[in-house]
Amino acid sequence: MDILRLEAWYDKNHRKLLFRESKNPYLIWVSEIMLQQTQVEAVLPFFERLIQKYPTIEELAKSDEVTFQKDVEGLGYYRRFKNMIKAAKIIVLDYQGIFPNSYEDLLKLPGIGKYTAGAIMSIAYNKPYSALDGNVIRVLSRYLGNSEDMRMEKNRKILDKINQGYIEKATPMIYTQAMMELGAKVCRPRNPKCEECPLNEHCFAFLNDQREDFPILTKLKDKKEFNYITLIIQYENKYCLRKRTESLLEGMYEYPQYEIESISNIVNDFEDQGIHVSYYQYQKTYKHIFTHQIWNMHVYKVIIKEKVLDEWILMNKEDIITIPMAIAHRKIKI
Ligand code: SF4
Repeated sequence: MDILRLEAWYDKNHRKLLFRESKNPYLIWVSEIMLQQTQVEAVLPFFERLIQKYPTIEELAKSDEVTFQKDVEGLGYYRRFKNMIKAAKIIVLDYQGIFPNSYEDLLKLPGIGKYTAGAIMSIAYNKPYSALDGNVIRVLSRYLGNSEDMRMEKNRKILDKINQGYIEKATPMIYTQAMMELGAKVCRPRNPKCEECPLNEHCFAFLNDQREDFPILTKLKDKKEFNYITLIIQYENKYCLRKRTESLLEGMYEYPQYEIESISNIVNDFEDQGIHVSYYQYQKTYKHIFTHQIWNMHVYKVIIKEKVLDEWILMNKEDIITIPMAIAHRKIKI
């Protein structure tokens, strides 16, 4: 690979993103976690707000899960932010607030895997550690003409080793960012701009006119579809919400919802538990598409009397906007 040409291309062409101009491991960590599964454009306003509110790891460690989840509401994949708070507290307590500078120590922190550790080590500390994400997989698969299935861990490991070999011959902080930028702006999933690419002289996919044939990815299973009856439950002028314990959207608040065919089954079930339903009315059906599943939420307004379930939290209508809530439920009008 012509690494010098790649690095020169990056130097001249990269976007001036706030987090790409920094060598601060804290900022690099925050940005890399936010960029997981999320587009740069969506991340930028959140990133700016977060680093204003939490300019140092000490400030972040003082926050709590609920406040932080509210700060990042809308970005999805909330487990990563729960892990961020945990990791920030560990860094302050066990490392006196100094971001670890060893790959092994980084991997011990919640939510930091090989990719994030590699990105921090190479970008912040200029150490040669591979950071192989989806963008880099695409660039290398095309460049090398790799015909293995990149959904398989063993094939990604082989590519990771190849990437490690390249970064050892490069300036790590530039190489990692150059590969990320190349994947995002030039070697795009559709219509890669090969004519502008610094790797085009030796790129297998370009030279063989197979640019969109790589990476090889076996088809994913169809998204699983769920039908929920979602309840806006009113009890004495307050609303009943629950905090999710399921791994998807864990810690976010939601209106209680049930994977059940009819509202009358829920009403009967409530009555059996001593909750009297004095009114219910269908409102509207909302649809939300996640990466791996689809929710169809058939929303009912319900008024109850006598008691509420232990797992419900009673809230005033105006307070609902202040709690962390997944977009799937935030869009429900009450
Ligand atoms: S030449 Fe085209 S296909 Fe090859 S790495 Fe560059 S942009 Fe991707």
